[in-house]
Amino acid sequence: MDFDDAKERLITELRLEGIKDEKVLEAFSKIPRHLFVPEEMVNEAYLNIALPVGHGQTISQPYTIAVMLEALELKGEDKVLEVGTGSGYNAALISYLIGRKGKLFTTEIVPELAEQSRKKLAGLGLKNVKVVIADGSLGYAKERPYDAVIVTAACREVPPHLLKQLKSNGILVAPVGRLYEQEMLKIRKVKGKLDVKNLGFFVFVPLKGAFEPVT
Ligand code: SAH
Repeated sequence: MDFDDAKERLITELRLEGIKDEKVLEAFSKIPRHLFVPEEMVNEAYLNIALPVGHGQTISQPYTIAVMLEALELKGEDKVLEVGTGSGYNAALISYLIGRKGKLFTTEIVPELAEQSRKKLAGLGLKNVKVVIADGSLGYAKERPYDAVIVTAACREVPPHLLKQLKSNGILVAPVGRLYEQEMLKIRKVKGKLDVKNLGFFVFVPLKGAFEPVT
């Protein structure tokens, strides 16, 4: 099956919705989303919608991911932490954006999802990603500090461990708020202070572990 037209349509839609970062758009054109969705849904892989990936989890809507990736301002060689590997699709996009000299540590609390994603990312030859089975709300202290941290599940507050593991001038992007609606926060650590911007409202599946959202 040829997905190129559907992919081009998705990228046009992302542009129309306001995504401007050409490198981010390029990542969407390079990484095959259809390999990260359940087989019976490949025909919907390039629609701008979230899709289920099993275990009650979802692969986020492309527009949402694009907003987050744009906000992260990734550069080649960046060291990045993702909380919530899920399907592995977002991890693959980040892997492309940070290049061969970059390194992504992506944490997933459901072991089956982590294993599945690990295989898919390896199958695509993406060697700069390490999938770690862990409660990512506590961060991944072993590899700290990070240039960028992205949380792809809803937090009731910004997990303090993640802020601690962020470099000075680093950027953290996370959906923060209640169970059914969160503000997408872009937080930059500037001289020990936090510069916080709200990028709009989104809905994510809840973060599990130490920092579960309240209803
Ligand atoms: N980034 C994913 C979408 C993730 S959905 C993608 O591209 O597909 C949210 C994911 O976060 C789910 O897989 C869920 O199991 C995981 N998750 C929830 N709480 C977590 C935690 N504390 N640590 C690590 N992963 C967590």
